[in-house]
Amino acid sequence: MKIAFIGLGAMGYPMARHVAKNHEVVVWNRTRTVAEKHAAEHGTRLAEMLEWCTEAEVIITVLPTSREVDAIVDELLEDLQTGTLWIDATSGDPETSRATAARLSHHCVEFVDAPVTGAVVGAESGTLTVMVGSSEEGFRRAEPILQTFGKKIVHVGPVGSGHAIKAITNAMMATNLWMAAEGLVVLKKLGIEMKTAFEVINAGSGRSNASENLMPMRIVEGKWPLIFKLALHDKDIRIAAAIAHGEHVSTPMLALTSQLYTAALQNLGDQADYVEVAKFAAMLSGESWE
Ligand code: NDP
Repeated sequence: MKIAFIGLGAMGYPMARHVAKNHEVVVWNRTRTVAEKHAAEHGTRLAEMLEWCTEAEVIITVLPTSREVDAIVDELLEDLQTGTLWIDATSGDPETSRATAARLSHHCVEFVDAPVTGAVVGAESGTLTVMVGSSEEGFRRAEPILQTFGKKIVHVGPVGSGHAIKAITNAMMATNLWMAAEGLVVLKKLGIEMKTAFEVINAGSGRSNASENLMPMRIVEGKWPLIFKLALHDKDIRIAAAIAHGEHVSTPMLALTSQLYTAALQNLGDQADYVEVAKFAAMLSGESWE
């Protein structure tokens, strides 16, 4: 099948590599050299122009937010072929996606939101979890393609539902991460070794993905890689807060988390990794992880 892949960032680059094992893939990236490298390394075809993507039966987007996806839709809309399937694996905004789906359906193009979880490591190994918001027919068409980079593919509801569950998942992770950072600052003040703290926390009920997988490497070993931009995590939390607001659900913890992450983003800057909020949490009490 001819598939166009748009957005070769930290996630998209390895995901496109997996898709290309079973399909004829044309790649487009805003920074052209990245797409050239992908074509050279993984046997994909460089789209010299974005418009080339309309030749494909399926278009996959993995972009920062729904805003960039919409801008690409705008550029391609008039040239899209009837029957094209548009799979958006961006962690996007449900409301925008519903509007995009409606816009595309006027051109007989089916839109499926299919955000992923499992981080860059899951994208590299092709073991992502994919949460799909679509019609039954959209899911039937998208599933075999999603299986090229996903291990667990779940149809969660109509268009927008994938984006909603992704935003809520990431907001939950954010609260866990922040709370773990706060707890560790307290223990550090008490003079407890961080290695000892993790050993005990991770053997008990306070453990989480943050305490088991994200923080020990950073706080104990001092390695702070950029894996997932804090700016993107902050965007997910804001989407989650907007969904809650729209549904009139009282979410004080989500509101506080959103405020804390926005403050952390302002303090740490656009290029910070999401786990670096632990630095900001420490800074609030005059501590650091040095
Ligand atoms: P990156 O910042 O690494 O990549 C972003 C991609 O979008 C790049 O290809 C970039 O192109 C392109 N891009 C940025 N702005 C524009 C624009 N205005 N027009 C066209 N293309 C643009 O992000 P990630 O790969 O980390 O994230 C992508 C999506 O996946 C996000 O929605 C994120 O929330 C989600 N996600 C990320 C995870 C992670 O661990 N990183 C895990 C799960 C989901 P260029 O090369 O030119 O900059």
